[in-house]
Amino acid sequence: MKQQIVPIIEVAKILYHKKINEQVIKNKKILDKFFQIELSLPQIILFNSRKDMDRYWGWKTQSWMVGWAKPGAIYMLHPSCYLSESSHTDFKRYWKVLLHEHSHLYINTLTNGFAPRWLNEGLASYLANQIHKVPDETAALRVLDKLDFNDKDVYKIGYFWIELLFKKFGKNKLLQLLKELKPTLRQTKFESVFYKVYKIRFSKKNLTSLYEKYNL
Ligand SMILES: [Zn+2]
Repeated sequence: MKQQIVPIIEVAKILYHKKINEQVIKNKKILDKFFQIELSLPQIILFNSRKDMDRYWGWKTQSWMVGWAKPGAIYMLHPSCYLSESSHTDFKRYWKVLLHEHSHLYINTLTNGFAPRWLNEGLASYLANQIHKVPDETAALRVLDKLDFNDKDVYKIGYFWIELLFKKFGKNKLLQLLKELKPTLRQTKFESVFYKVYKIRFSKKNLTSLYEKYNL
């Protein structure tokens, strides 16, 4: 006898799709307005376990990592296993991660992927309202170094500088910085683009003074 297939639908999982759909549409409106560009709705790819995420990457992912973005798509742990498959403890933060990852699509489009990591993560965290404590001065000045992919402090450091740039110099300059980073014929240097936009050299001396003024 031919083997029969019983159609099985996991309602608990599908129920989340409606919520994700609503949330992504809402986020698109917020981000289109903020970045002043219109991007089409991204594809959402959901993982049902940490194991599947590890298989996708080909290595053991860190327990705090629950999502990422690639052109036109957002990859996330499924909301139904967000708490059990990660080190996170507050479910409400899931929706902030969704907005965070969505923001990366805009930042990467504007900069062609040339934003330094602190700027990319800082702005995505800022837009998703993932508030971080102010880093100490030594940590904050690490924007002058290369911050690598696995360095979790990049979120806190980036958030601090983005909030400072945003509040002190406004949104338009920040958008201009992103747009100017987009390389044309050759890769532009971040320091010279920063100077062009803010008329401040991206140096230890100036960043220290900005840090100290901001903390008064
Ligand atoms: Zn990010």
